[in-house]
Amino acid sequence: MTALRVGLGTDVHAFADGVAMHLAGLHFPDEPRGLAGHSDGDAACHAAVDALLSAAGLGDIGSTFGTADPEWAGASGVAFLAETVRRLDLAGFDVANVAIQVIGNRPRLAGRRTEAEALLSATVGAPVSVSATTTDGLGLTGRGEGVAAIATALVTVRTPSRG
Ligand code: MG
Repeated sequence: MTALRVGLGTDVHAFADGVAMHLAGLHFPDEPRGLAGHSDGDAACHAAVDALLSAAGLGDIGSTFGTADPEWAGASGVAFLAETVRRLDLAGFDVANVAIQVIGNRPRLAGRRTEAEALLSATVGAPVSVSATTTDGLGLTGRGEGVAAIATALVTVRTPSRG
């Protein structure tokens, strides 16, 4: 029987002037503001990274990549995701799937959902679904202060072959 591990992750980034909007691996050139952060602020990718690390028991994005590490300054969420999958592979885990839900008023993901799913699925090497919701005007995302994301990941434990 295949050993399964489930993981979860959340992330939030505030809107900021003067930076480009990157979310779910996509650039949104028409957005007036981007997301603040040490990296590109892609909360959707960061939540997925945390979900994958959580599933594998490999810590979290802060302990793995270092929020102050200059190597990752300005790094894209997709780069974090690719490196995370590489680390899981080294530790003996295969990704079964990742599900991401973005919570916020903007950018509007609906029109580019399939594009995001294709990009992130190719990055992870397994199906990644992206959905979006709003909070009826309540909370930090409802007030338009930023974007939140929640993710779950399922990984399988690779059984060592016996010689
Ligand atoms: Mg983050």
